[in-house]
Amino acid sequence: MEKNSKRLSRRTFIKGTAIGVGVGITGLNLKEVYALPAPQKWNKEVDVIIIGAGGAGFCAAIEACKAGAKTLILEKEPVTGGSSAICGGSLAFAPTSMQKEKGINDSPNLFYEDLLKIGKGRCVKELVRTYADESNACYEFLVSLGVKFQSVEMRPGLSVPRVHRTSAGDTLNILKNESTKLGAELLTRSPAKRLYANPQGRIIGVKAKIKNKDTSIKAKRAVILTTGGFAMNKDMLKEYSPLPLESIMAVSGLGTTGDGIKMAMEYGAAPSQMTLALSPITGVGIPMDVNTKTISQPNYAGAVIVNKEGKRFVNESVAYTDIALAGMSQTEALIFHIADEQVFNAYKASTYSRMDRPLKADTLEELASKAGIASAALVEEINKYNGHVAAGNDPDFGRKSLVGIAGKPTPIKTAPFYAYVTKPGLIATMGGIKVNTKTEVINVFDEAIPGLYAAGEVTGGMHGAGYHTGSGFGKALVFGRIAGKKAANEKPQR
Ligand SMILES: Cc1cc2nc3c(=O)[nH]c(=O)nc-3n(C[C@H](O)[C@H](O)[C@H](O)COP(=O)(O)OP(=O)(O)OC[C@H]3O[C@@H](n4cnc5c(N)ncnc54)[C@H](O)[C@@H]3O)c2cc1C
Repeated sequence: MEKNSKRLSRRTFIKGTAIGVGVGITGLNLKEVYALPAPQKWNKEVDVIIIGAGGAGFCAAIEACKAGAKTLILEKEPVTGGSSAICGGSLAFAPTSMQKEKGINDSPNLFYEDLLKIGKGRCVKELVRTYADESNACYEFLVSLGVKFQSVEMRPGLSVPRVHRTSAGDTLNILKNESTKLGAELLTRSPAKRLYANPQGRIIGVKAKIKNKDTSIKAKRAVILTTGGFAMNKDMLKEYSPLPLESIMAVSGLGTTGDGIKMAMEYGAAPSQMTLALSPITGVGIPMDVNTKTISQPNYAGAVIVNKEGKRFVNESVAYTDIALAGMSQTEALIFHIADEQVFNAYKASTYSRMDRPLKADTLEELASKAGIASAALVEEINKYNGHVAAGNDPDFGRKSLVGIAGKPTPIKTAPFYAYVTKPGLIATMGGIKVNTKTEVINVFDEAIPGLYAAGEVTGGMHGAGYHTGSGFGKALVFGRIAGKKAANEKPQR
């Protein structure tokens, strides 16, 4: 992809467009047709402006500061962290020292192959290659800053345990403190509104609302978009999602409203996989507890998934994105996870356990009536499932393991019984603007837009048509670091 990414001036770009034709006909000064021409006077000047204080933004800031750039981070919310700070803290990295200590034989190549396989051949391979090659350096970088990893775990679709678990909140605090310690200026409640370009089409600054005042900030080297995805923007979801959205709960960082995508598109940025039917809606779908609106995955500890009619409809051990997708077409999109005491305890003891609140009953019939599931059908289905477990063969859905290739299904037979009532939730979007491996934003003619970089959920292309657990947060941190280094190394503009 990079070899096609020639830098092109806005002038050349405009020549071939309707605007360019308009310029010729009306004799307008070219400057007048730019989306947002530079102001007469800048209110502030820095080397690098980073828009969005989540995982990608802080990693970019750390690297930009280390390279000596005067760096400003704009965050529109009162608190920093975005989706990164509320995420599950799963990070896909390989091959790490933690994996080696546990005798797990992983490599960048195996990681690359798994990412491509999970992405069903639809990933932008160069981005996957960069992620797989750079991920261990990112792990070491986090460890060097004091980030603690608790475990490395298996997930569906992975060849080996590769998902490193950490506290997302603690990690974001560490990254934020490091950014400001290195000299980055951080302004909260300061939304970026638009980008400024010069007559050559180079991005040269940002128009932001700071203390409720329009403020024009010059970026002498570059602007980096780290604004996250668009899970909280209903209009964009309607526009780009291949599936209806009525039954989806969006639980994502409040600021993930697609601002960076729009700002970049104003200057011709190409979309990448915005409409690809990935999981429920062009994003990461996952079953969520309908009451607590938190992630719920007792299926990976052995719970059986049924619909309102009491029937199984999916292999409970496949990726949660596929389970959420299957749930979309069930009655009221309800996904019930049925557990017995053994499964309940295994789930509680696992690192999966979150804040979900199951219903509890002494019999399956009573549980069905509490949860609103067809009672006789549920009893019959669980009996059938227990028979499959005893026979070691699930002819209905082919469930062989609990997570990926690990753990064996157990029968649901010991009271009390539990029902986790969930629906598909949307936690992240996977499509975004197109970037190359240097994180330069790419326009619709496959050319880099000068002075503009992007990293994290605002970008598309890496995931393809599937989702490797831990690659959303991981992508933000790995590519955020690259963006910070590259932006800081741009030649300063006068
Ligand atoms: C509940 C939940 C669980 C998840 N679990 C995992 C997991 O375990 N592992 C994993 O890999 N992924 C997970 N994800 C996805 C992952 O968290 C995100 O994809 C990733 O952290 C995004 O990082 P980011 O830095 O690109 O964006 P964010 O962390 O969302 O940061 C973007 C920031 O930009 C700000 N912003 C937006 N617009 C503007 C503007 N105009 N001006 C200024 N600031 C702006 C936002 O307010 C926000 O603070 C989860 C997501 C959620 C919601």
